[in-house]
Amino acid sequence: MNEDNLIEFEEIALERTFLAIKPDGVQRGLVGEIIRRFETKGFTLVGLKFMNVTRELAEAHYDVHRERPFFTGLVEFIISSPVVAMVWEGDGVVAAARKMIGATNPLTSEPGTIRGDFGVSIGRNIIHGSDAIETAQREVSLWFKDEELVTWKPQNTTWLYE
Ligand code: UDP
Ligand code: MG
Repeated sequence: MNEDNLIEFEEIALERTFLAIKPDGVQRGLVGEIIRRFETKGFTLVGLKFMNVTRELAEAHYDVHRERPFFTGLVEFIISSPVVAMVWEGDGVVAAARKMIGATNPLTSEPGTIRGDFGVSIGRNIIHGSDAIETAQREVSLWFKDEELVTWKPQNTTWLYE
């Protein structure tokens, strides 16, 4: 890879998204399957932690839904059992991850998506993914401290990017 390509790659690879495998995904043993999908797609893992979520964090994360009828149940669910919080990086990763996750209701998510392949109920839809670049920035900094994110360059980038 020459220096020009290196600069170009660093410019396109800055986008990051926040993903969380929810308690149902963890309890159903889908952690490996879900991580595998993002890894083999070609995105780069830059943050990962297995954790219990505090009520404060769950409420802050879903603040946009505070007035919705499902808010209380959603918060109770997210804090009920551990989650896997992750940050993934790559060109267009925010929108691409949403596509790989599928529609909010797993009954209408396309087969081939995570929710389409593994779920049947909107309140048990396995995984969260940031819905826009600005949301991703907010969620990454809500869930991760700067020092918990690992900036690194996978050796396969020349085979993933032109
Ligand atoms: N949710 C729910 N009932 C609803 C709508 C949403 O339980 O009628 C939950 C569901 O877990 C969803 C989360 O609230 O993933 C956030 O809703 P949003 O519309 O942001 O869906 P997402 O962005 O996760 O697809
Ligand atoms: Mg959402």
